[in-house]
Amino acid sequence: MTAITNHLPTAELQALDAAHHMHPFTHGSQLGAKGARIITRAKGVTLTDSEGNEILDAMAGLWCVNVGYGREELVEAAARQMRELPYYNTFFQTSHVPAIALAAKLAELAPGDLNHVFFACSGSEANDTNIRMVRTYWAEQGQPERNIIIARKNGYHGSTMGSASLGGMAGMHAQGGLPIPDIHHIDQPYWYGEGGDMDPEAFGLERARQLEEKIEELGPHRVAAFIGEPVQGAGGVIIPPDSYWPEIQRICDKYGILLIADEVICGFGRTGNWFGSQTMGIRPDIMTVAKGLSSGYAPIGASIVSDKVAEVIDGCEFNHGYTYSGHPVSCAVALENLRILQEEGIVARVAADTAPYMRARWESLTAHPLVGEARIVGLMGSIALTPDKARRAKFASEPGTVGYICRERCFANNLVMRHVGDRMIIAPPLVIGKAEIDTLIDRAWQSLDEAARQIEAEGLMQAAE
Ligand SMILES: *Cc1c(COP(=O)(O)O)cnc(C)c1O
Repeated sequence: MTAITNHLPTAELQALDAAHHMHPFTHGSQLGAKGARIITRAKGVTLTDSEGNEILDAMAGLWCVNVGYGREELVEAAARQMRELPYYNTFFQTSHVPAIALAAKLAELAPGDLNHVFFACSGSEANDTNIRMVRTYWAEQGQPERNIIIARKNGYHGSTMGSASLGGMAGMHAQGGLPIPDIHHIDQPYWYGEGGDMDPEAFGLERARQLEEKIEELGPHRVAAFIGEPVQGAGGVIIPPDSYWPEIQRICDKYGILLIADEVICGFGRTGNWFGSQTMGIRPDIMTVAKGLSSGYAPIGASIVSDKVAEVIDGCEFNHGYTYSGHPVSCAVALENLRILQEEGIVARVAADTAPYMRARWESLTAHPLVGEARIVGLMGSIALTPDKARRAKFASEPGTVGYICRERCFANNLVMRHVGDRMIIAPPLVIGKAEIDTLIDRAWQSLDEAARQIEAEGLMQAAE
């Protein structure tokens, strides 16, 4: 295999990018002035950019490249499927082998009675499916007024009108007239940032009980479902206190409302089990999956649905679907990806070996003067930057100012670590080895040192009151 090395010079690529390419979640003219970093190829956990820099990707792309870059088997699976049947749909009473095989495989892997799969092309689309599915579930049973979905502030469920409404990102709601009607949000279980003087377990219970209060406020006959990520990802890798999810499950059971676990990040080994629901001990009625399902090699998402919900939905014509629902190439790639995860024992290795090693190394970052807490579950972790550890203080500067400085230092040190506000987050490929974990921690520490010096020099080491 030869890499594409005969591309235009970086500056020309950047100029064309700025002139013609609109980037997601990006201030266009700011990026245009600076120039995007251009990634040209990748192998294992390492990216190469157009200047030849080799960068450790501690974010697995966007939380998705779980088996790492450069897996020939996935390339082959796609090519084989494209030759045999590049496309056919699953509308109008037709089906095809890859969709059938993948649905059966997901039913086998998913816990409990989650035995039915509705395909989409992304996590956002799958969550849009979920909105329509849970509302249809109640309408079909003579309760059309039971259409409210409760979600969390600072949750992330995607970027379509429906999924961004489920999400609790204020910046997204501010653009384009969101949320859509009958979506309500409760506070997130973010102890470090919002727990005040409470101990974490009491705080977790209090935040879970907001669900019960919200149900009572809206009327139990109006509430269709609750949705949450087992561990919030894009919100800053926020690992809830242990008390949180069991209480949420109790409340969902008490009121008979459907529980949707958005497993788009947590699914397929990220937390050390196949699904985050298993790590958190919950029994969802629907799971949203995407990202790690194909390790990002092909776009695919799905709703994995319980017997109870599927029975009702199958009792009507569900007027919903996407041209590429169950795209054969994406399904073939996903199947091969699941085979790799299973046959190479990657999920088990994360649980038994790499995650414990990573935890010890990650938590050692709390010794750094800038780090207020370091938390990790499986291979998704976060650190909180603070000007004053003892008080869990926030910075006086605009949230994200300091996080961005740290992120820039990481990039300069050939480490992709993302910032969410003033939290730094990681979710490396699940195949990361111990030596690579050591490199990750060394570069993170070095970047934190440089960031601390810069923050000091710019007079930003100030705590908010
Ligand atoms: C990324 C993400 C989504 C959206 O998936 P897309 O494939 O980007 O549409 C939904 N939920 C969670 C938890 C995610 O992290």
